[in-house]
Amino acid sequence: MAAILIVEDEPAMQMGLKDNLELESYSVTLASDGVEGLSKIKSGHYDLILLDVMLPKLSGFDVCKAAREAGITAPILLLTARGEEIDKVLGLELGADDYITKPFSVRELLARIKAHLRRTQSIPLHHAQGIRIGRLQIDFHAFRAEENGTEVKLSHKEFEILSHLLQHKNQVVTRYDLLEKVWGYEEQPTTRTVDNFVVRLRQKVEVNPNQPKVILTVHGTGYKLLA
Ligand code: CA
Repeated sequence: MAAILIVEDEPAMQMGLKDNLELESYSVTLASDGVEGLSKIKSGHYDLILLDVMLPKLSGFDVCKAAREAGITAPILLLTARGEEIDKVLGLELGADDYITKPFSVRELLARIKAHLRRTQSIPLHHAQGIRIGRLQIDFHAFRAEENGTEVKLSHKEFEILSHLLQHKNQVVTRYDLLEKVWGYEEQPTTRTVDNFVVRLRQKVEVNPNQPKVILTVHGTGYKLLA
């Protein structure tokens, strides 16, 4: 049973979400402002976090950023109102995995939650113990990457992309395949999103990011991890 934290200040929304998630057998914990939310997130007890953007005390954006800085890797799904700064939500530096705009359908929300949980729980254990990829030593089980013993922060999606490429090492993985496997639903992100993530990953993995030797571009198609 997955544990979900809901950080939301509107009581009606809070209770509606709680009821619907409990009906799906999730274990649900509530927090009503940004400070309480962040402190619960930092406990590391949750498999997924639903995080409202407009919150008392500390905004959802700030909570999200602080959670990632604290090393929390659980998927974070932002709940935004129409007109909020979606660009900022999608801005990779925040570290959110996804967002959904209010008002949303419960069915849509549940589908997103399931997709994120499925991905987090599907990273194969056979490369859990630690594997070398380029400059990094990666422990997929702990979602931890190190270079010469110093931690290098990777986002959840970056771990997933590496994991997927690794499962198909020395083979071409198309951008569409990565979109489907890592993002899980086809509407919002584009293949350009994939390219942007790979550019960022190369900064962390490659000795010389301008001349990749680990994550190769297969022109017009996708990527190939050499391992
Ligand atoms: Ca709110």
